[in-house]
Amino acid sequence: MNNNEILLLKLGEVVLKGLNRKAFEDKLMNNVRRRLRRCGSFQVYIRQSTIYVEPNSAECDMEEAYAACRQVFGIAAVARAVPCEKTVEAIVDTARHYLADAFAAARSFKVESKRADKTFRLNSIQLSQEVGGLLAEAFPAVAVDVHDPDLTVYVEIREKYAYVHAPSVPGAGGLPVGMGGTAVSLLSGGLDSPVSSWMMARRGVQLEMAHFVSPPYTSQQALDKVLELARLLTAYCGRMIVHVIPFTEIQEEIRKNCPEEYFTLIMRRFMMRLAEAVAKKANAGALVTGESLGQVASQTMLALGTTEDVTSLPVLRPLIGMDKVEIIRMAREIGTYDTSILPYEDCCTVFTPRHPCTRPRVEDVRAAEAALDVDALVAKALAGETWVRVKP
Ligand code: ATP
Ligand code: MG
Repeated sequence: MNNNEILLLKLGEVVLKGLNRKAFEDKLMNNVRRRLRRCGSFQVYIRQSTIYVEPNSAECDMEEAYAACRQVFGIAAVARAVPCEKTVEAIVDTARHYLADAFAAARSFKVESKRADKTFRLNSIQLSQEVGGLLAEAFPAVAVDVHDPDLTVYVEIREKYAYVHAPSVPGAGGLPVGMGGTAVSLLSGGLDSPVSSWMMARRGVQLEMAHFVSPPYTSQQALDKVLELARLLTAYCGRMIVHVIPFTEIQEEIRKNCPEEYFTLIMRRFMMRLAEAVAKKANAGALVTGESLGQVASQTMLALGTTEDVTSLPVLRPLIGMDKVEIIRMAREIGTYDTSILPYEDCCTVFTPRHPCTRPRVEDVRAAEAALDVDALVAKALAGETWVRVKP
């Protein structure tokens, strides 16, 4: 196809941000540039709420660039465009071929033109009229409708070439990663936490992951699976650090010293404490979990209250009101589903009580936990922390 094909990225909510707009746009362009690095060398610049992505050479992988741009948060829509000579004939000819499928599917169309090159012989209105007239002749079954057309043909006259745009497809939406602060996301190998991480990243949050391992009860494969989930998320979130925190001793101490009905709750309180410590080091302002109200015993309203009792950071739970079927649909859409369902154990599943308490009172859980040297266990787990830098 055409080596000069370019991509047009329409900004989403970024355009609403008033005075911060410049910072948002810069962040977004940097994120786009970083994500495009593995697809070749590109020019990336912004004009009127559109980011232009132009390949610098024929070596650029445009298919991959297109796919990558569709995963960058902050972009509402992505379109491709092809260049042609700056004549009405060339523009019409290009539109007829490049947009043949779109015309076949449309009942009505209009042409919208833009001129960056003000020396072009026609102004935008005249250009739209001429191109529109000729396309109407070429596609007699498709009527001109300037108010509510099925298809809008965008034509743009730039310095070297004219560009004809293909219809745009939805981008990932949301806000540029990095504009919403940093949070530590508790990533297990399940279905939920990759989705909750993705949702917060879409709101512009930069993530660091915390993952708890309990060898020998949990295996290297279970950890590899979590690292693979993190890697899949980097397509959206950019590179990230996964903090791997040993959890075996904490779980064994809980099992030895605390009433069985509180196992899971006390364990989750330790997870919060450890994640908070990671957050302090990372300068993060919140924790993220994949909890969803009522999904399991430790996610009843009272259980959630008992869990977040030990942290002063906001605990963001983007899945709180979602049904499992919706979460599964999202996991499929973002591409984490197939990895999440691999059957490796999680530390949460190794010491599960037979009859977990679903209506815990905070005081009772605190009292049960008093049998443990909480600070020492936390310090020891943190001392054993390792981390992995995960890249796309
Ligand atoms: P998921 O599908 O994400 O594993 P779940 O429904 O199985 O969630 P739990 O196992 O109770 O629920 O875990 C609730 C949340 O606690 C998870 O979504 C995740 O944020 C966090 N979590 C659970 N296990 C771990 C772990 N081993 N390391 C880090 N975070 C964890
Ligand atoms: Mg789990």
